Amino acid sequence: MFDLLALTLAGQVPAEQQGENENLHWRWLGEGLLEITPRQDYQHAVVVSAGIHGNETAPIELLNQLVKDVLSGARPLAVRLLVVLGNPAAMRAGQRYLHSDMNRMFGGRYRDFDHSGETARAQQLEQVIATFFDAEKAARFHYDLHTAIRDSRLPRFGILPFQTRPYSADMLALLDAADLDALVIHSAPGGTFSHFTSEHVGAASCTLELGKARPFGSNDLQQFAAINRALQAAVSNEPLPQRPGDALRIFRVERSLIKRSEEFRLYLSDDTANFTELKQGTLLCEQSGEEYRVQHAREWILFPNPKVALGLRAGMVLIEAPRSTLY
Ligand SMILES: [Zn+2]
Repeated sequence: MFDLLALTLAGQVPAEQQGENENLHWRWLGEGLLEITPRQDYQHAVVVSAGIHGNETAPIELLNQLVKDVLSGARPLAVRLLVVLGNPAAMRAGQRYLHSDMNRMFGGRYRDFDHSGETARAQQLEQVIATFFDAEKAARFHYDLHTAIRDSRLPRFGILPFQTRPYSADMLALLDAADLDALVIHSAPGGTFSHFTSEHVGAASCTLELGKARPFGSNDLQQFAAINRALQAAVSNEPLPQRPGDALRIFRVERSLIKRSEEFRLYLSDDTANFTELKQGTLLCEQSGEEYRVQHAREWILFPNPKVALGLRAGMVLIEAPRSTLY
């Protein structure tokens, strides 16, 4: 049977590039790209992506299994679906990326990077997304699946792109059902894949961080059971599972720490976990005459990384916000 992940890891072009059965038809659109359209009417058009960072294997395996189940008929398809394995070359190498981080490049920002396989791929993905949603009347969704490099005090969380319109109630229901610990709301546009689909095609979009990155075959897929069930329900248009745990915590980005000079210093140890709490007044970072001290009684650090290239984000400082911030 058609196995998108096996084909992509082998770098092969499939002998059959489209097919159909009584429920759906599918088209291979290029490396790591598969469009599946149900024969029945649908109200949702959904992009699910994984492997924008090539070593984040668990979501890639989870997504591939979902595709297999849909193609085999084991799972009914009730939405138009675009499956994206983001960075095949990095997946084959078991690396986050080969040259530059693709998830900073979207929205045309690939032009600001040295030309590489990743800038070409980001440009291709933008075109594929635009074509998929062109003239599409159904409600639009994009879930971009990731795992994090570092430990996290709140292990599973979603990151919502900055947007001026309210966040989709359907998407928030899925994120609740996926048993995430937290949602983080961006306060400014960025180069992520989910920001691109939110801004440029009006999709309800979210980046999902689902645990820690491990090599292919070493993942405890049980850890991903809740998001798996939520995505299964979404593609089959079935009722979402009940959220078992505590309510989602909501954070918003208070400040992005941009590295502007080589003297940039971040005063956190290399192994600082995401969502580590920072106390008011703590000197967090400094560079050429500029410093940042924790402003609020409690702030939290996300994605600290002082090794990024100049001009890029070396971390984000969060504050907790009421759920009403989402509407
Ligand atoms: Zn990632």
